[in-house]
Amino acid sequence: MRFTAPPGKALHRNEHPPLKTHLKKLIKASLAGVGYSTGLLQRYVASRLSGRAAVLMYHRVLPAELAARTFSTDGIVVTPEAFRMQMRVVREQLNPLTITQFARCMREGLFPDRACLVTFDDGWYDNREYALPILREMQVPAVVFLATDYVGTGECFWQERLSQMLHFGLESDPEVRRSLSESLQVDLESALGTPDRRAAARKLVDQVKRLPAARIRAAVDQAAAILARVGGYSDNRSVDRFMDWTDAQALHSDATFAIGSHCCTHTPLTKLEPAEVVNELDRSGARIAQMTGSRPVTMAYPNGDCSTAIAAATRDAGYELAFTTERGYVAPGDAPQQLRRINVHEHSAATPGLFLARIALLH
Ligand SMILES: [Zn+2]
Repeated sequence: MRFTAPPGKALHRNEHPPLKTHLKKLIKASLAGVGYSTGLLQRYVASRLSGRAAVLMYHRVLPAELAARTFSTDGIVVTPEAFRMQMRVVREQLNPLTITQFARCMREGLFPDRACLVTFDDGWYDNREYALPILREMQVPAVVFLATDYVGTGECFWQERLSQMLHFGLESDPEVRRSLSESLQVDLESALGTPDRRAAARKLVDQVKRLPAARIRAAVDQAAAILARVGGYSDNRSVDRFMDWTDAQALHSDATFAIGSHCCTHTPLTKLEPAEVVNELDRSGARIAQMTGSRPVTMAYPNGDCSTAIAAATRDAGYELAFTTERGYVAPGDAPQQLRRINVHEHSAATPGLFLARIALLH
């Protein structure tokens, strides 16, 4: 059911949505700035992280010109400028740990004050290209969780691929839109009115996400087949691609970095049968061991999705620590295979104040 406001009210409410959004952002940024410049935020974060750790979750670090071309969602991208500022704050205000130190703290049941761990999910090529030099410069350790079936293949996640296809579809003629709408069971026509076509394409992808994994694979293949027959469609994988194993080995050989597992196919484990879950956990660990010489003992769940049974299977597969995407801190005594994190992206942490407010879980 859709709520329809009386005409007068609707007009009033929708009169200045961009202005209202700008004002909200401005007020939030100003307040965070005041909190930062007076030192209040730093003190508050220190009190929040007394004996607890903030695990920061990143995905991609892309310069603005590449960020404008990616089909990854805004929620997983930061620019190198923002990332450098954030890592400076981590170095100056927090106590960044290596994953080995973090694991020891969990075993001993004691975190130093203001403990922090920087994590990267997926294994995008930009982690090595743009994040690594900044992490080295700021002397901040990090762990990178690899979705092993994608590393060094030239393939990318179905979300980025489909988002690109839908974006092309939205710019195409009605016949292409109709074919894509039918095969994917989404309504491209309804998205046409949205001025930001990339955002519209990503919204449609969110609808497809709800389908079972096998149905998604079939739908993406169908969409690819439709577009293969249409002139002008070209693949964007130069921006949306993964690192290769040489990159992973370079990360692994640097003492401040570690490689963890993000499973193989990046399918949420909650969508798989128990035997498939075990296969994802074992096969990704074995592949990383084969390519780097060390079997990983940490992992992050694809999409963050986990259950008590999956956490137990993860422990049994030899992963000492496993991270979800549930927001919050890690305290000693937390279930080691269900650890919380804090997602950081460009819009949530563009200034030192907003970044610290994010870590304080204030927004
Ligand atoms: Zn992921």
